[in-house]
Amino acid sequence: MSRHTKIFIGLISGATAGVLSNFLFPDSPIIQFFQTYITDPLGKIFLNFLIMMVIPLVFASLSLGVAQIGDLKKLGKIGFKTISYFIVVTTVAVIIGLLLVNIIRPGDYLPATTKTQLMDSFKGQATEIKQTTEKTEFGIQTLVNIIPRNPIAAVAKPNPDMLALIFFSLIVGIALTLINQEKAAPLIKILEGINDVTVVVINIAMKLAPYGVFALIFSVTSRFGFELLVALSMYVVTVILGLALHLFGTFPVLLKFLSKYNPVKFFKKIETVILTAFSTSSSSATLPTTISVSQTNLGIPSQITGFVLPLGATMNMNGTALFEGVTVLFLAQVFGVNLSLGMQIIVILMSVLTAIGSAGVPSGSIPLLVMVLAMVNIPPEGIAIILGVDRILDMCRTVLNVTGDITCAAYIAKSEGYNLSE
Ligand code: ASP
Repeated sequence: MSRHTKIFIGLISGATAGVLSNFLFPDSPIIQFFQTYITDPLGKIFLNFLIMMVIPLVFASLSLGVAQIGDLKKLGKIGFKTISYFIVVTTVAVIIGLLLVNIIRPGDYLPATTKTQLMDSFKGQATEIKQTTEKTEFGIQTLVNIIPRNPIAAVAKPNPDMLALIFFSLIVGIALTLINQEKAAPLIKILEGINDVTVVVINIAMKLAPYGVFALIFSVTSRFGFELLVALSMYVVTVILGLALHLFGTFPVLLKFLSKYNPVKFFKKIETVILTAFSTSSSSATLPTTISVSQTNLGIPSQITGFVLPLGATMNMNGTALFEGVTVLFLAQVFGVNLSLGMQIIVILMSVLTAIGSAGVPSGSIPLLVMVLAMVNIPPEGIAIILGVDRILDMCRTVLNVTGDITCAAYIAKSEGYNLSE
């Protein structure tokens, strides 16, 4: 049985068991025991196993990718194409979201009593997020921090500063191309070694995937307040419709015209990545799988995947940006804040920027989203309204985040004259 079939079975059985126990045995101590001592730890072990390799992998694959590209002019060209692609496609995603939210106006469907109930039930969580947001720096300091004073300290914390790691890795890669090749060779060998070891570790971790996925999905679905989906149905439908349009509309068009690749074949080849992103809700945890599937199944050369995909996992979040745009406008509608066209353009800009700055972990974008709310005069504690459905939406938007990275890598490979495997 192929790996993605096993993961898919884990996902479906986790969802079925979770939903059934949620409806049949709500508040059962046995289920709570199962969640606390079996599925929660198993899910976390699986996630940690994957995330454990992300820092060495980003460093090794990015600096190696740059060193393998070799010529700085070529690097500049690829870098420019990659970043432009990220920004343009992310902007398209936000525009799709904003068009839908203006047409559907989901905020008008939320009864005032539900709004108050939701604000009350999620008040504690919302206050915690607000506090995190107050500590998060965003602005000119974010730019300064991209150049780390101490690269180890930048990543040696619970929320590693991935942009700083990216900068450090890029500079090391560039320096490797500038020194005598004989002197560069030993370090390049070590980086290749780190890359190879990561692949093996991830392969071991992915053997756990069917069980890890079962555990993650069971933990979410067995606790999920399904009645919230009904209360927030118009909002959820708007986000999911937007994500679906981008996933099955924008990406196939880009694949067809830029990469000359059959979109159906593409989706089939990246099934494992989609399943991993959906069940982990984390672009970072999915990164090792994203890299190996892009190389093995799509034939994208390692210097392109090594460069584009680590950048993408941190900076290119199409689904997140779309979700942010929809959520800001939805909450504006709920709170009766009128956002002019000018303000909506600011929302587009801020959604793109904060998606670049969001961490690729579950709910990584929420603190920055709260910041955008405050910026356009929407009560930031209003985030409480959507927190109950965030995990489900996170699973869906993370699929777009990683698929967007692979479409970009496919485009860059094609435009650099490489043929993708059919
Ligand atoms: N979970 C998303 C990711 O890892 C980030 C977010 O939208 O919260 O890509």
